[in-house]
Amino acid sequence: MTEQLEPVPFATRHIGPSEAERRHMLSLVGYHSSTELLDAAIPESIRWREPLDLPAAVSETEATTELRELATQNVVMRQMIGLGYYGTHTPAVIRRQVLENPSWYTAYTPYQPEISQGRLEALLNFQTVVADLTGLEVAGASLLDEATAAAEAMTLARRAAKKKSEVFVVDADTLPQTLAVLRTRAEPLGISVVVADVSDTANLPQEFFGLLLSYPGASGAVRDLRGLIDLAHERGAQVAVAADLLALTLLTSPGSQGADIAVGSAQRFGVPMGYGGPHAGYMSVRKGLERSLPGRLVGVSKDTAGKVAYRLALQTREQHIRRERATSNICTAQVLLAVMASCYAVYHGPEGLRAIAAGVHRRAARLAAGLRDGGVEVTTASFFDTITARVPGRAATVVADAADFGVNLRLVDADTVAIACDETTTDPDLNAVWAAFDVAEGPADADEVLPDDLRRTDEYLTHPVFASHRSETAMLRYLRRLSDSDYALDRGMIPLGSCTMKLNAASQMEPVSWPQFADIHPYAPADQTLGYETMIAQLAAWLAEATGYDAVSLQPNAGSQGELAGLLAIRAWQDERGATARDVCLIPSSAHGTNAASAVMAGMRVVVVACDDEGNIDLSDLDAKIAEHADDLAAIMVTYPSTHGVYESHIDRLCAKVHDAGGQVYVDGANLNALLGFAKPGKFGADVSHLNLHKTFCIPHGGGGPGVGPVAVRSHLAKYLPGHPLGDDPVGPVAAAPHGSAGILPIPWMYLRTMGGEGLTEATAAAVLAANYVAARLRDHFPVLYSGNKGLVAHECILDLRQLTKDSGVSVDDVAKRLIDYGFHAPTMSFPVAGTLMVEPTESENLDELDRFCDAMIAIRGEIDKVASGQWPSGDNPLANAPHTAAALSVEEWTHPYTRAEAVFPSGHTTGKYWPPVGRIDGAWGDRNLACACPPIEDLAD
Ligand SMILES: *Cc1c(COP(=O)(O)O)cnc(C)c1O
Repeated sequence: MTEQLEPVPFATRHIGPSEAERRHMLSLVGYHSSTELLDAAIPESIRWREPLDLPAAVSETEATTELRELATQNVVMRQMIGLGYYGTHTPAVIRRQVLENPSWYTAYTPYQPEISQGRLEALLNFQTVVADLTGLEVAGASLLDEATAAAEAMTLARRAAKKKSEVFVVDADTLPQTLAVLRTRAEPLGISVVVADVSDTANLPQEFFGLLLSYPGASGAVRDLRGLIDLAHERGAQVAVAADLLALTLLTSPGSQGADIAVGSAQRFGVPMGYGGPHAGYMSVRKGLERSLPGRLVGVSKDTAGKVAYRLALQTREQHIRRERATSNICTAQVLLAVMASCYAVYHGPEGLRAIAAGVHRRAARLAAGLRDGGVEVTTASFFDTITARVPGRAATVVADAADFGVNLRLVDADTVAIACDETTTDPDLNAVWAAFDVAEGPADADEVLPDDLRRTDEYLTHPVFASHRSETAMLRYLRRLSDSDYALDRGMIPLGSCTMKLNAASQMEPVSWPQFADIHPYAPADQTLGYETMIAQLAAWLAEATGYDAVSLQPNAGSQGELAGLLAIRAWQDERGATARDVCLIPSSAHGTNAASAVMAGMRVVVVACDDEGNIDLSDLDAKIAEHADDLAAIMVTYPSTHGVYESHIDRLCAKVHDAGGQVYVDGANLNALLGFAKPGKFGADVSHLNLHKTFCIPHGGGGPGVGPVAVRSHLAKYLPGHPLGDDPVGPVAAAPHGSAGILPIPWMYLRTMGGEGLTEATAAAVLAANYVAARLRDHFPVLYSGNKGLVAHECILDLRQLTKDSGVSVDDVAKRLIDYGFHAPTMSFPVAGTLMVEPTESENLDELDRFCDAMIAIRGEIDKVASGQWPSGDNPLANAPHTAAALSVEEWTHPYTRAEAVFPSGHTTGKYWPPVGRIDGAWGDRNLACACPPIEDLAD
């Protein structure tokens, strides 16, 4: 008889340190067991003592089988619904080398540009694609989706318009979900959205600050925008155009027609539909508006050797610095998907894209011709890929018949059907549509029918990068060169405080590529998406149980969007009970920048609450602010554990005080990795939280996105969760798709299913232990700024370098860059306290790696001392000159007061060395000489 082998529980694979290693770590911290440590660290008043009521953990194989069963309940159809989502062929080289490649998906946001040149270059390509195709000067590095990009365009237009008005005019032929998100976002800001049939300029009001046009429209119609844009400009308004990037390869660009802003989605550039996301939204603007752009902007600068180097530009616009005056709350974006889209353009080049677009267009033209030949009225005279047909009283039958043939069409109303062609549309698909309309098969070919005066004549994507990677070999090597430039979790630890860079397991990632998840349209009929709906309902229920809340919406596609959704729920609740004047949101001075920016977007006024010397919220200042705002207090927004990485002991009292004063409590749940299994925000006094599934629940950071930021509420707020984009719920949607970035929800589903309640609890304990272990090992070398009960930290610790900087002149920046020479990604720099480093090791790093990091930090402390004592001059030492490139090393004459080996092998290890491709980057130079598209090839020569 053979013995049945029990698989190793997934939790053992997920948690880095073995039990023996954890015992060693505990003894250094001074505890006998994890329970004892957590008992000491977490205030008893909030401690949850029961096991989490989640399904018992199963193995990765079993969970995969279970998820496959759910996946088979989704029906993969030919998707011809349109509405901004299209079939696309993801080139296999991009799927395997980017989407499924940990060197891309486990990278972090490129805030340390020297170790992020690969993804920065790919994002610069993305910006170049968007700027070129839209005909506008500056494009940002990805928004969340088309609908939210349109909402950002609305507020940008308001900031930029000469006309001070409250009216934003929207083309009646706009995607319905875009209109719904615009309405959600306009209401709290006092903007009135006026929908106008823009086919007649007489329908434009006299006074408005902005206009959103669609190009093509939701119906598929393509119209000349010049007259409308000119008229809007005459009236002092700014014009945004929601444009389809593929259509723009054939059509005159919005920029050349005079538009100020263009927005849209890059989904059909090789990114699967995924039941709504994630996909990269985009925005580009004319010159003069770049300082108002929301989100991140990649720019070109140079390093200390004068070499071209990329980094994020104009960061002072972002909410980390501007807080309530920020242009937007966007933080985590859609980097991985922007990278995929840009690679699609690199792979196909301008001719390839034009050929794809022409093929799509000709299929739509054939479809229209066949329908017309069969006597069906096609109402879209000029179109690119989508046509609208009138079949009075028969629309539902046509759509149902098409579904029987395996094709989804869009039911517009009882008399109208819309049909969208895309790159994947085949002859049998066209035949199925003709059959559904009961007409004979149409022509085998058709000429282009684009209006002559809208045919694009200018060139685009002329940069050599879009011409030199057409063979698969060239593409493969290009992708390898880019990813080799970067430091991601596949190289080593990324101990970024507040970011939770834990394991993103391969078994969690695999289902994302399954066609039953990847190829589902977000507005497919409900009977085709039962698997998705069951998976989403299970995930929502598990998250509710883990957080102690009553209801969860998975729609927000980043933490920032969850914040907005949560605050909108509070606002609606206050309004319902007649407290419409309550608009003050208390936010501690230590809060994440998104908190303040989101409060402003929710129509609230931010009032800052001070922190005391221990880093805790100052309760007497809280009392004073509550008293001052007795009549207008809407909410408090606090992060727990605090952004200082500490379990504040008076959180329960804080909640009670705010409730007594008529306010609601928002707990920012981005730090849930320190709570899961040990405390539930929904049970210790909070009314609403957002969670970051891209932190605690294993969705990889993707180089700066995608993310999912579900919002969780207690029952009294449940009816104010984000509504369906095509419904009429009390609060509207915050994303274009009903479940936001549904396509990556298999990741947290797999994590929860394979960890179970016990595994999650064990992970929290291991994360808290790891942070306390690092704090204990480093405390004598760098003061740990804040700690709570018994001197313990939560899941992260802040190392205070301010005194050392004063004594030695060595800055946090120097230490961060020097860590690169030691083979590490720096911890979070100067957040939430300037001049400090915040370290979050997570549960997934094993003891060797934790020790390697601590050893590097201790060695760096020794280097700082040599600078302080004058042994090394302050301007020429390994810290000031870090990071050291291979090129810097190969100079004939080495003039520095330290050796080459000290420069690049400071820890003595030579194997597996990470070589940064550029030296320290001069960010300020790049901001003064702003350039945000691919630099001329001559500049790139060595
Ligand atoms: C990461 C984080 C956020 C923002 O989440 P995004 O997904 O980046 O928008 C908000 N608050 C805190 C405390 C965070 O750490």
